[in-house]
Amino acid sequence: MIFYGTNSSRLKDGQLPNVTCPNCETQTSMTYSVFGKYAYIYWIPIFPLGKVNVLECNHCKKTYKLKELPEQIQRKFETEKHTGIPFLHFSGLAIILLIIAYFSYSSAKHKEAEADYVVTPAIGDVYSLKAETKGHYTSMKVISVTNDSVYFVFNDYEIDKKSSIDEIDKASNYTNYTDGYTKEEIVSLYEEETIYNIDRD
Ligand SMILES: [Zn+2]
Repeated sequence: MIFYGTNSSRLKDGQLPNVTCPNCETQTSMTYSVFGKYAYIYWIPIFPLGKVNVLECNHCKKTYKLKELPEQIQRKFETEKHTGIPFLHFSGLAIILLIIAYFSYSSAKHKEAEADYVVTPAIGDVYSLKAETKGHYTSMKVISVTNDSVYFVFNDYEIDKKSSIDEIDKASNYTNYTDGYTKEEIVSLYEEETIYNIDRD
């Protein structure tokens, strides 16, 4: 399946009056169409690649690319037609930028929320942390909170990819080992990034 390539769409049609057709040598007008070429990925236009201008003699119906016509007609065409590059041809780029903006925004929001979670732990919060084995990661879930301490049940599993922690974060994996920390300990584990993520439903 081809999922990237180039395509073109018609941007504008118009009339170019008072030109002499090189084929039938009649003083006539020509109908022109401007096509915008664009690159696409999965049918979404990503960026424009320039334009193709096609003209047709209204008398003999011969069609020309602009470049094939005498310079005089080319110049007349350039001064009389007005087309911009349609925003649509940038839409993929705009979507990509929006996605990036959305993710940086929500990640900033999440960090803001975490700064709050770490000082006000609640039952059910899931902390992602570096495991004792170097390069491994695991998680622990808050099971109770007292004035100065937080108690966790640990995940039975570890994973070797930081971002894949969701794969082991299943209720059935928290069965075995529990432990408590003071709230200060939790804050310093978070600050030194041993705890690197906190999720609250
Ligand atoms: Zn002609």
